[in-house]
Formats: sequence, structure tokens, C-alpha cells
Amino acid sequence: MSDCIFCKIAGGEIKTDFIYEDETVVAFRDLNPQAPEHILIVPKKHVAKIIDFSADDKNLAAHIFVDVVEEIAKKIGVDEKGFRLVINTGEEGGQTVGHLHVHLIGGRKMTWPPG
Ligand code: 5GP
Ligand code: ZN
Repeated sequence: MSDCIFCKIAGGEIKTDFIYEDETVVAFRDLNPQAPEHILIVPKKHVAKIIDFSADDKNLAAHIFVDVVEEIAKKIGVDEKGFRLVINTGEEGGQTVGHLHVHLIGGRKMTWPPG
């Protein structure tokens, strides 16, 4: 999508250091980190939100949760200590960027419930 900031980042139009990249996914550090480690995992394909994933996206969804999360967690050293995954969805879910992304947050003790 032409006016989508995460499409521009994923497509290289806005230069960003990727902590991870493959054919379908990029991951980079959040501009406004909420913890010592705060990574955004973003599909290259524009999908607005999680409920817009279709049957064709099952491999992509599985890839993110089976492969990418583990690789990044190991890379930043939170795989043993633990971390949190968050997908804010829609207005009440706190989503501010309309391109699906998974927050991987770690490096400190998390509290519950979230705000
Ligand atoms: P949401 O609120 O939609 O779940 O998360 C959007 C996240 O994207 C926020 O944590 C915000 O700090 C981050 N963000 C917004 N614009 C940019 C950007 O241009 N670069 C990076 N690295 N992060 C961004
Ligand atoms: Zn997009």
C-alpha cells in the first residue's frame, strides 16, 4: 500500500536496520521502545490486521510463530529469560499502524494486566 509506513519500511523506501529479514518478513526495532528489547515483526505483504489473514496466509502466520519469533528471541538473548508477544488489533486494541505487526518485547520483567 503506497501510503503505509510499514510497507515503505519493508520495501526499503524508508531506510531501516533490519534485525531479521527473509522473503516474506522483516523485523526491526520499535521507534518508541517500551522495554530494553522491543522488536516489530512485520509481514512484507500488506495485511491490515490479524483477522484479515486469509487461508492463503496460513504458511506466513505459521512461519512467523514457528520460525521467526524463535530466531529473533535467540538473536537478542531473551529465549531463556522470556519475552512477550503482542498484536494490538483495531482501535480498542490500541493498534496505531494499520499494517499487521507482532511486537516482541523483552529485557525486563513484564507486568499483568497490560494497560
Ligand atoms: P501499534 O500501536 O500499531 O501496535 O504499534 C505500532 C508501533 O510502531 C509503535 O510501537 C510505534 O512506536 C512503532 N512505529 C511507528 N512508526 C514507526 C517507524 O517509522 N519506525 C519504527 N521503527 N517504529 C515505528
Ligand atoms: Zn502496509
